[in-house]
Formats: sequence, structure tokens, C-alpha cells
Amino acid sequence: MKHSTGHHHGCCQGEHGSRRGFLKLATLGVGVTLMAPMMMSRPARAGSVDTLLLSCMDYRLMGHVAGYMNARNMQANYDHVILAGASLGALTDKKPAWGDAFWDHVAVAKDLHHIKRLIVMDHRDCGAYKVFLGMDLSPDPTREAEVHGQYLAKLKTMVRERHPDLEVELLLMGLDGQVEKLAV
Ligand SMILES: [Zn+2]
Repeated sequence: MKHSTGHHHGCCQGEHGSRRGFLKLATLGVGVTLMAPMMMSRPARAGSVDTLLLSCMDYRLMGHVAGYMNARNMQANYDHVILAGASLGALTDKKPAWGDAFWDHVAVAKDLHHIKRLIVMDHRDCGAYKVFLGMDLSPDPTREAEVHGQYLAKLKTMVRERHPDLEVELLLMGLDGQVEKLAV
């Protein structure tokens, strides 16, 4: 009896779990419905955006990245390619497929949406920089900015060689969302 009660309890928990999952989905559905009118009221820009953004995948910065683009009046009006490490992700010979994916996306963004500008957004305390370079740069912010600057500059040079028509902007974001523009 004791065993059977325990088992039954287990079943109920399972049902609660899936019901909770369903409610979550239903809530998401409502969210999407509420969002739709806002998105539709946006002026239709027939298949064209100015900017392709390359940023890191880091979850800590997604809100800040969107906030930064919004503050520059580019909300929902840019293409976005994400690679861990941003500039380093596109450059590292440890992940050649990532570089291929990056260059393909630049070409696709040009062909489909006629982008005029690439914004590369690296960020401080980047895990990909730690893994690929084998060192933690975050204790020395000046050095950290220098190293990011080197990879950002290298990527900019390569982009300008392959796509001289593209403007390239280089940014470094802190974990607090503050963005430094790197002139290299
Ligand atoms: Zn990162």
C-alpha cells in the first residue's frame, strides 16, 4: 500500500509537470499574440536592412545587445549572426567551420538584405576568448581591450578586403552593457 501510494504520487507529479509545461506554452502563445500587432505596425522596409551584427552567444549580454541596438534606432532592423567569441569565433583556426559560416552569412546578408555595414561586438569576460586563447584576460581590462582590438582589427581588415563596400564598426561591450567603440 505504502509502495503503491508512493508510486501514485510519482504519477501525479509527472502530470503536474506536463500540465505546467502546457501552461508555459500557452503563456508563450499569448505573448506571441500580443507582440504581433506591435511588429506589424513597424514600417515595412522591403527586404532591406543597413546592418549585420556579429556578436557572441553569451546569455548574459543578449538583453544589453538588443538594448544597445534599440538605442541606436536599429531595433528589429538588423541581421544578426552569433558566434561564441564574435570576432575570435570568426577567426580562430580551432573552428574553421565557424569562419566559413560567418563569411557565408555576410554574403547572404548582402545578397538578401543589401547591408551596408557590419558591426562586430566583442565583449569583456568572454568565455570563448578564455578557451581559444587559453588565458583569462578579465583581470587586466586594458590588456583585455588590446587583445580584443587585435582580433577585431584583423577581422575588419579581412572584411574590407573581401567586401570593400562594407563599413565595419568595432565594439567591445562590458558585462554591464557599456559599449566602447574601438577605432582600429
Ligand atoms: Zn563571449
